[in-house]
Amino acid sequence: MSRAKKAASASQAESFADDVDTDTDSQSRFAEEISGDVDKLADYGVNVADLRKLKAAGIYTITGIQMCTRKKLCALKGLSDAKVDKIREAVAKASPNKFKTAFEQSLKRQAVFKVSTGSTDLDRLLGGGIESMSITEVFGEFRCGKTQLSHTLCVTCQLQGENGFPGGKAIFVDTENTFRPERLKQIAGRFEMDEKAALDNVLYVRAYTSEHQYEIIEQATDILFESKGAFKLIVVDSVMALFRVDYSGRGELADRQQKLAQFLARLQKLSEEYNVAVFITNQMTADPGAGMTFQADPKKPIGGHILAHASTTRISLRKGRGETRIAKIYDSPDQPESEATFAITEGGIADAKDA
Ligand code: ATP
Ligand code: MG
Repeated sequence: MSRAKKAASASQAESFADDVDTDTDSQSRFAEEISGDVDKLADYGVNVADLRKLKAAGIYTITGIQMCTRKKLCALKGLSDAKVDKIREAVAKASPNKFKTAFEQSLKRQAVFKVSTGSTDLDRLLGGGIESMSITEVFGEFRCGKTQLSHTLCVTCQLQGENGFPGGKAIFVDTENTFRPERLKQIAGRFEMDEKAALDNVLYVRAYTSEHQYEIIEQATDILFESKGAFKLIVVDSVMALFRVDYSGRGELADRQQKLAQFLARLQKLSEEYNVAVFITNQMTADPGAGMTFQADPKKPIGGHILAHASTTRISLRKGRGETRIAKIYDSPDQPESEATFAITEGGIADAKDA
């Protein structure tokens, strides 16, 4: 973290919503897209009452409609099949260009930003940090730093970053009651940020059941829409804990995986629709089949194929010497399989050499 970035962070923490318009091109273009809400469809013959019904269901953008199946739209209160067809026709007219050239897509990808982990070595491993518009998962044994990394990201996402990234707010979904605001204060102190402002920029919510966890993500959609690009990060620590409690035994596994898939699909859409980084933590379990395949590490993340496919980037954490930890890329679309060592310090995640 450079001096300049640190200094800037101290004064910028308060008003991210205002920053959106003055931001660099790619970021502001994306913000415009977010505010290009469903109301535009009124120009294509959809009546205002129907638009209100979409919004009541948490669908605020044209992309949001495209992300719903016809069946799902028909299930919404007050929307008949005929109305849904009319809405879908209007969407097709309002955003007709479904195919883009790779170059056009690369322009859209310019809005993607990376949130620093607090450790330059770990950032390097991840190609800059935790990426927006996708889900990053870390898994590992207890005390390996998953919750500490979650806390650190809530602070570092408020800092200015590369390519004109203005910094922004975070939402922390806590399923294990391990969120500690005092830790955020300590981490904010390390980055010379105003502690109160840093805490004000993190919205905390405790989830009690897997169903509640899903509802929270629905509510988060409303918050993201209303904030007009102010939020940059959603943390779910940990993603599987409640699913594990609510569904037990082999008999309930299929049901659990189906609900998990719905939850993750919702998160994935949110990350793309609102250009936020989604960071989830996961636990591990002994792999009973590992003995047969001579695997060096017989433990694996839980959640099965559903979670494996939903996470764009998967990182495994393990303990190193003292307070150091070793992160390894387990699965990534664009980063090679390699390792980085970092440390857990009073000021959050940092480089091992600084510990
Ligand atoms: P679990 O699976 O139990 O949730 P976890 O991976 O989330 O574990 P963390 O809580 O992130 O684990 O990490 C715990 C580690 O963080 C401990 O080793 C602890 O020593 C270290 N730690 C916690 N607070 C501080 C602090 N203020 N300063 C330095 N290290 C700390
Ligand atoms: Mg934890």
